[in-house]
Amino acid sequence: MAIPLSPLPYAEDALAPHISKETLETHHGKHHKTYVDKLNDAIKGTDLADSSLEEIVKAAHQKGEKGLFNNSAQAWNHGFYWNSLTPEKTAPSAKLAEAINRDFGSQQALAEALTNEAVGHFASGWAWLVAEGDKLKVISTHDAATALTENVVPLLTIDVWEHAYYIDVKNKRPDYVKTVVENCLNWAFASENYETGRVWAYPQEAAV
Ligand code: FE
Repeated sequence: MAIPLSPLPYAEDALAPHISKETLETHHGKHHKTYVDKLNDAIKGTDLADSSLEEIVKAAHQKGEKGLFNNSAQAWNHGFYWNSLTPEKTAPSAKLAEAINRDFGSQQALAEALTNEAVGHFASGWAWLVAEGDKLKVISTHDAATALTENVVPLLTIDVWEHAYYIDVKNKRPDYVKTVVENCLNWAFASENYETGRVWAYPQEAAV
């Protein structure tokens, strides 16, 4: 059983003009696919060959297997990122909105905290909104490091590797982050993650 390339939950041109079709084609079809391919090569014939992606990431993290960790965590992070974005206008559920007001003061203040974390993160990595128990936090992780191995429930993520925005805005990460935070974040996805308290599960089977 191989780990599939998780499908984009919308068309490649659905997030334009905020994120272009060309960026999504390359980012999903080349970058994400390469992580998945390398991960499948690495687990072939090992005792992780039939494991879920979540199990593989955690095992590689625990054993300090850097190569396997990088490719498996990047596979998971990208699947989670595609679901963190949407072309639809979404809003936090009543329960998530209440937690946002409690922990950040307002939705606007959370948007600013997330933007600052994503823009300020040094070099490659990921900015996350997570729930630690009931409490919401904005964090970032370096390179392939993932909220999946922290003791939290990830709600949303923003990819801040250059490949996420270089085609569209060259080196201007703040422009990419601003447009994503203002227009593309999937608050319905974040609300579901928050309310169930369950970590999103990467698809097990390839889409047919
Ligand atoms: Fe990426």
